[in-house]
Amino acid sequence: MKDSHGRTIDYVRISLTDRCNLRCIYCMPESGVSQISHQQILTYDEILRICRCLASLGIKKVKLTGGEPLVRRDCAVLLGQLKRIPGIEKVTLTTNGVLLKENMAALAQAGLDAVNISLDTVDAELFEKITRRDSLDKVLEGLGEALRFPQIPVKINSVPVLGDKENLVRTARIAQQYPVHVRFIEMMPIGYGKQFDFWGEDDVRRILEETYGPMTPCRESYGNGPCHYFSIKGFQGKIGFISAMTHKFCYQCNRVRLTAEGYLKACLQFQTGADLRERLRGGCSDEELTQVIEKVIWDKPVSHNFNEMKTTLDEQRMMSQIGG
Ligand code: SAM
Ligand code: SF4
Repeated sequence: MKDSHGRTIDYVRISLTDRCNLRCIYCMPESGVSQISHQQILTYDEILRICRCLASLGIKKVKLTGGEPLVRRDCAVLLGQLKRIPGIEKVTLTTNGVLLKENMAALAQAGLDAVNISLDTVDAELFEKITRRDSLDKVLEGLGEALRFPQIPVKINSVPVLGDKENLVRTARIAQQYPVHVRFIEMMPIGYGKQFDFWGEDDVRRILEETYGPMTPCRESYGNGPCHYFSIKGFQGKIGFISAMTHKFCYQCNRVRLTAEGYLKACLQFQTGADLRERLRGGCSDEELTQVIEKVIWDKPVSHNFNEMKTTLDEQRMMSQIGG
């Protein structure tokens, strides 16, 4: 359906859990994370019911996220059930990759359409500084396993933080070595991300061009989102940028977000939305639920204002609770 600003909303990001097996410095605190209790987290049946309502309103694409979606049991089973909902065309996953090796075959079997692996560095020491865990080898094994399924596109999402120019150059090299797009994401001032400066697209691009030569803009888009891509001579994959800070893309926003506890969020920055769990568990009908969802989509804010004054509606959740 269209929102009140004329944008077509056809994509939902669903957070399956707020739990994670990493502790990325810009996403979660080192310790003392208060976890949502199991009763507060939507069951798979509840997620499926909400998705049927979403699909009836024109949502076609679903991204499973978290926390870390693969720490929730039977993620592949849910994926298969989502794929069978009439109107849902694509179900994709974003993961930190730590548990991907053992899950990839089941996900592929269930019909996974694409996978994004978050990887900010290929340097083991820096990886541990950023994620507070010694898991780089597992992520790389997960990437290797994903590449064994050529029908499933793989992308790397990388938020430049802590590292230096050489780190960016080495991360981008993944797209030279493998048929994988590497996307650089500008850090957004949400939750723990507020403590860090962001590397802007233009700076990253200049650094990559110094090493790899000219980057040519691509006309194609590859996936659901606002990423724009460049090709580099000799690279198998593209280099992409998701630049919410320096190249604001709200005018083409196509998404809503469902948190693990069932809050439907209209915009990343604001709390605007509706508690669907409360309504579901209060016994509302599918028709009523669909009406609530329709209103959230219609009232979607026109844009974020990360660069301007803060408002009382600003999101207080951590990124791990929202799903990115
Ligand atoms: N654990 C999974 C993962 O890492 O892909 C899924 C959830 S994670 C919150 C989704 C994405 O959000 C990751 O690519 C992560 O790097 C990104 N992210 C987290 N905090 C961010 C921030 N403040 N600004 C930009 N991206 C952020
Ligand atoms: Fe976990 Fe993803 Fe957040 Fe890192 S970015 S702490 S992997 S949820």
